[in-house]
Amino acid sequence: MKRREAMDKKNDQSMEDVMNGLNDRLKFSWVTYVLLFVLYFVTTIFLTIVSDNNSTFNVFGNPIPLRTLAGVFSSLSNICIIFWVLFYKKTGFITSMIILGIQFPLLLRKIFVLHVYSSIPGVFTNIFTIVAAIIIYYNDVRLSKYQQGIRKQAVTDRLTGLPNRFACYEMMEELTKKKEEFALVMIDLNNFREINDSMGFNVGNEVLKAVAERWRKLANSSETGTRDIVARQSGDEFILVVREYLDDSDVLQTIRCYERVLEEKLTIDECDYYLAASFGYAEFPLDADNVETLFTYANTAMYEIKKINGSNHIMHFTKELLREEHTLEMERKLRAALENSTIYFNLQPQYNMDHKLRGFEALARMRDESGQIVSPGEFIPVAEKIGIIDKVDSMVFVKSAELFGRLLKETGADITLSLNASVKHLMKSDFMDELKGLLDTYEIPAGNLEVEITESIMLDSADKALACINRIKEMGIKIAIDDFGTGYSSLSYLSKVPADLLKIDKSFIDEMNKSDASKKYVAAIVSMGQIMNMEVISEGVEDDSQIETLREIGCDYIQGFIWGRPLPAEEAEKLVKGL
Ligand code: C2E
Ligand code: MG
Ligand code: MG
Repeated sequence: MKRREAMDKKNDQSMEDVMNGLNDRLKFSWVTYVLLFVLYFVTTIFLTIVSDNNSTFNVFGNPIPLRTLAGVFSSLSNICIIFWVLFYKKTGFITSMIILGIQFPLLLRKIFVLHVYSSIPGVFTNIFTIVAAIIIYYNDVRLSKYQQGIRKQAVTDRLTGLPNRFACYEMMEELTKKKEEFALVMIDLNNFREINDSMGFNVGNEVLKAVAERWRKLANSSETGTRDIVARQSGDEFILVVREYLDDSDVLQTIRCYERVLEEKLTIDECDYYLAASFGYAEFPLDADNVETLFTYANTAMYEIKKINGSNHIMHFTKELLREEHTLEMERKLRAALENSTIYFNLQPQYNMDHKLRGFEALARMRDESGQIVSPGEFIPVAEKIGIIDKVDSMVFVKSAELFGRLLKETGADITLSLNASVKHLMKSDFMDELKGLLDTYEIPAGNLEVEITESIMLDSADKALACINRIKEMGIKIAIDDFGTGYSSLSYLSKVPADLLKIDKSFIDEMNKSDASKKYVAAIVSMGQIMNMEVISEGVEDDSQIETLREIGCDYIQGFIWGRPLPAEEAEKLVKGL
């Protein structure tokens, strides 16, 4: 219901509020306006009474004519008129012009019809007051226009024409004062630097302008169902303020609308761009009760989701994200999970292009004390940072090898188990013993086991890494290079790695069908891998058109949600047994 109401109101001046400055702070109430009216009429009545009166009154024994008070009342009534014009702008000006306009013919009638010549100074006072009111009013109009111009410049971002962060900050301050609920969304374009570096600043600016224009249009339409304001923070960072929503899902839905319009193809100078962004948000008053903290929280969530670098680009702030606390809390959870053995695994199937099972990749999963599942994107980096990744890996190794060994024995299937090994783990002196232990204990033929390493292994101590890899190979275990294309290893290093499988990172597969160049890029990786005697698997395949393209360019295997999500052990077992 609230969304519907918001849609109706959508086109009112939400954006205008910001651009024109927030309502004037200097406000005179209508009570003062009416009081001025009363004062004006009282003084005018007294003026009429005293001006035609010939009686006198006594001051310190001296008789003073009552008529001399006419000047005092006349000045008072004129002051009322000037105050109207000064404080009530257009309304005040119109009021005073009407009053003076009525007064003028009455005065003329007094002089020319009734021959009361004492009213002649009153005519001049009337004319001068009209001139003064006009001058004050027009001067004020000019000044206001000038001030508005200056203010507009101060609150507008020059490049995009959107409100800038100061305007946005000010507007949010107003909302917090009114205790109005809203969500602050910080947006950062992904990989924008690459556009700037490769295509130049001019193209970068055009991209920013085009993005701003898309979002401005969306904010001014009723499409999102909430009342939104978009502003530019700086560089490739934007701010979105979402108002008049019912619950968190409304905010998410609105953000998704902004994400969708951003991701539509953008063509500049005949070049196509596919943009994406990271969105982090925090809500007032749910997450923080002041604008500054909201900014910090929304930014924290935005950087976090950027770092995770997954397929989801939107994150709501949670207290757990506060860096130090987050690491400490995650460390505590990890240690508890290791102790209680609640780190377990899922198996994601890998297939050849004829949909025949090649094997599984074991993926770590963790359940915390409350039974909540924590994603590896969160706990693996912490485990690496605090130096317990080998323990996490090992728990996955042991548990998955146990099932896998049993499956091989029971079914006789010729499939592969891929294990992710972190660099720190692989470099440990007892890594080989650990692998040997797995093969012996669970009776797995070495050729059915595979160790996944990432390109980053080549960054530090490449020689030591190569020695380890060679020893694994000598044992007959296969080597896969994971997330290929995301690291920075040189081809010369890569050619020295005796890998069996090259895993093309999901980010390339996502882009593959979006342009001819991206498709050729993936085709080149496939050919290169095959030239180096490796088989090639594509990660993160999600739709049929991707499978088609991968078949066309000769990729050997696929791993992706389209044919198989990571499965719990029992389901993987059923899959192998054909149940
Ligand atoms: P990875 O080794 O590249 O694993 C593939 C990731 O891509 C998995 O995410 C998987 O669920 C996801 N994925 C596969 N197909 C699709 C798809 O079609 N669409 C989408 N959106 N995602 C897909 P997950 O399980 O979250 O793992 C993330 C990363 O965590 C892994 O990336 C790996 O680097 C690390 N990791 C997982 N388990 C372990 C482990 O036991 N040890 C170590 N050292 N790292 C692990
Ligand atoms: Mg992997
Ligand atoms: Mg991978």
